[in-house]
Amino acid sequence: MSLLNISNLTMQFGGLVAVSDFNLELKQGKIAGLIGPNGSGKTTVFNVITGFYKPTQGNLFLDGKEITNLTPDRITAMGLTRIFQNSRVFRDLSVFDNVMIGHHIRMRSSPVAAVLRTPGYSAHEKRAIDQTMLLLEQLDLAVHVNEKAGALPYGLQRKLEVARALSTEPKVLLLDEPATGLSSEEKDEMIDFILKVRQDYGLTILLIEHHMRVVMGICEEISVLNYGKTIATGNPVEIQSNQAVIDAYLGEG
Ligand code: ADP
Ligand code: MG
Repeated sequence: MSLLNISNLTMQFGGLVAVSDFNLELKQGKIAGLIGPNGSGKTTVFNVITGFYKPTQGNLFLDGKEITNLTPDRITAMGLTRIFQNSRVFRDLSVFDNVMIGHHIRMRSSPVAAVLRTPGYSAHEKRAIDQTMLLLEQLDLAVHVNEKAGALPYGLQRKLEVARALSTEPKVLLLDEPATGLSSEEKDEMIDFILKVRQDYGLTILLIEHHMRVVMGICEEISVLNYGKTIATGNPVEIQSNQAVIDAYLGEG
């Protein structure tokens, strides 16, 4: 079954066609890659899927339900979330609070309920605390629970963002360059980490990444964008030997 289905997606900014007639069928449990030179439209695809941009054209379905033009909140609540290209940890908050924020988004807790400490709120709050601790333990972040997020090495900050994303209990996770800026060792850890969370949380993943070792190592299917157009789709072996793809990357220098 296809969990995420994108058909004929076009996104235009004024005269610029950032994404043109993009199609994707992402099957349950798969990891697909979205690659292409800088400015080729990858993040724009994510911004449309997550409801940050309204597409100029096209239709998007999550688990059979149409999500075109829904708000980001709604789409997250339906089971799709992302991490951003640039780190968005709350640097001055603790590791614990960074993940708790994800729970609050999912529970849509009302500030009034929080202040009044209604019984319903307390039960939710207790469950959120337990789930946050469990998630941090499962992802080997529990030893850092009280540290400020901004003080963590960058590789752990990226993992923390994944933890926060998981706290919304997604079916589909979009990762925008999770390995960019990491050391070679951290990249290897990130590969293992992504494979582990896919397995442990039964996730379906769409990955944007520049580092070919990461992309080729974990993606089963890959789409390649260049100037907003899809120039190739296929498995890692097919993509690596595709002349149009090689040319697009050579053009980038
Ligand atoms: P990538 O993630 O592949 O590097 P992006 O999706 O960020 O590329 O950008 C694709 C193109 O769309 C770029 O030319 C970029 O400048 C443009 N673009 C992205 N977002 C906007 C926006 N909100 N307004 C205008 N142009 C945008
Ligand atoms: Mg990008």
